[in-house]
Amino acid sequence: GSTPRVALVTGASSGIGAAVVAHFCKQGYQVLAVDFNAAGKEVAEAAGAAFFQADLTDPQACHDAVDDAVARFGGVDVLVNNAGIQHVATIETFPEQKWRNIIDLMLTAPFLLSQAVWPHMRKGGWGRIINIASIHANVASPGKAAYVSAKHGLIGLTKTAALEGGDQGITANAICPAYVKTPLVDNQIADQAKLNGMDEQEVIEKIMLKNAAVKRLIEPVEVAQMVAYLASDAAGAVTGASWNIDLGWTAH
Ligand code: NAD
Repeated sequence: GSTPRVALVTGASSGIGAAVVAHFCKQGYQVLAVDFNAAGKEVAEAAGAAFFQADLTDPQACHDAVDDAVARFGGVDVLVNNAGIQHVATIETFPEQKWRNIIDLMLTAPFLLSQAVWPHMRKGGWGRIINIASIHANVASPGKAAYVSAKHGLIGLTKTAALEGGDQGITANAICPAYVKTPLVDNQIADQAKLNGMDEQEVIEKIMLKNAAVKRLIEPVEVAQMVAYLASDAAGAVTGASWNIDLGWTAH
């Protein structure tokens, strides 16, 4: 058959990223899993992916990750910008360094990685950029100024990439999930439970899923399956869009 496509996935050691890597590996992609957590090496290799350790808040590390994929596999066909963190504090008390850290990881790194993979995608006349945004790319929540701003910005980057890539075979789309069952959310559930004197089930039902029509957390593999669709040839006409997996949240 033809050469398998190459996917670079960031934030691949855990949660949604790990599910995306596993799903791509099953589909026969060549995958480079990128994360700053070295524990991801084992996770990646167990799934059949290669691993590159990088702190993506460092611009050089963004370039090094793409160089590594190109050295191993000859190019990058699919970029999944997924690495992300959360910090909750009011604007009045939000630490400037945390703000910069979140913007660097969740907005600047996707830009730098898009820039670095672009010539490889253009050469092949085919490429897919898939940005894992959030419901917080469309709505805000108090205490999440940096996260909400980075995710709203990521939609702008997605739309611009779509316009620039249109005549080069490169598509760009964002996925906007509500709460997905990952370590990032488990930590928030535990924090909210302490803060509100509730048990964890109460936090999920009364706080996290208050605005949801479907009252359950999303599974990481459900996001991975949408990534797989957007990466496929079938999705060639789909670009510049935001794809909600939000349990009906924004139907309100
Ligand atoms: P997670 O915490 O399980 O995984 C995030 C990964 O990013 C981790 O492996 C972590 O090591 C890595 N990472 C963190 N900082 C990094 C850095 N500086 N350099 C490289 N890697 C770094 O989180 P998740 O829930 O799977 O989230 C993945 C993405 O999905 C994030 O962008 C998040 O904003 C988004 N998202 C998550 C949810 C949710 O409910 N879990 C909802 C909407 C959007």
